[in-house]
Amino acid sequence: MVKPGKLIVFSAPSGAGKSTLKDALMARFPEALRYSVSATTRKPRPGEQDAVHYFFKTPDEFRAMIEGQELVEHMQVHGNFYGTPKAPILKALGDGHSVILDLDVYGKVNFDKAFPHALGILIVPPSIEELERRLVARKSDDEETIRIRLQNATRELEFATRHGKYEYTVVNDNFHYALEELTRILEKELGETAMVRPMGEKAK
Ligand code: ADP
Ligand code: 5GP
Repeated sequence: MVKPGKLIVFSAPSGAGKSTLKDALMARFPEALRYSVSATTRKPRPGEQDAVHYFFKTPDEFRAMIEGQELVEHMQVHGNFYGTPKAPILKALGDGHSVILDLDVYGKVNFDKAFPHALGILIVPPSIEELERRLVARKSDDEETIRIRLQNATRELEFATRHGKYEYTVVNDNFHYALEELTRILEKELGETAMVRPMGEKAK
């Protein structure tokens, strides 16, 4: 019988480095991990591909997914809708894979209602000032969007501390240390050894 995989939810304020860390982790556990691609009404950033980074939807299409009960949870974040499609998660778990999800801290609370055993990992930036530097350096959001994301970051971290169920909190200060810490967490939780060792990775 196939051993069922685990659900691993990553949450972080925007710009904390969650996507970069998640991509590096996926490369280290290529057999064990699958990524849950969310649906969103946000416009793609340069380089983002439909069905890889997100399923990019119009508001009408997104509404139809809600009405068709295709989403485990959905949430309005920074003025756009985001939601987690249910079918691909069930398929991946059924195939024996573990699934990484990227959910905002409020979405995680709703997700837990459907999947109470999901593991939570909260990624935090070393400071709000550093978070701002990273959002500016990423060059993917305009000034107003960055302002909203920073305002929300403090609130999100407070909410996560008080109401979130996160088994692990990882500070993404030095990228390599954070990646090593996450690798050790996943090795413990998945009972698998990472297949790509740190030597092969580029410095940040
Ligand atoms: P998120 O997915 O949490 O919004 P990203 O992964 O897009 O964040 O990271 C935001 C920016 O910060 C990117 O330009 C990324 O290369 C950079 N970054 C990620 N981790 C670090 C780190 N530890 N130190 C410095 N910059 C980082
Ligand atoms: P971004 O626009 O930077 O890709 O994501 C913005 C926020 O939306 C992040 O906090 C991210 O975790 C969250 N997010 C992405 N997908 C989902 C989802 O399916 N559900 C919820 N609730 N939040 C999501």
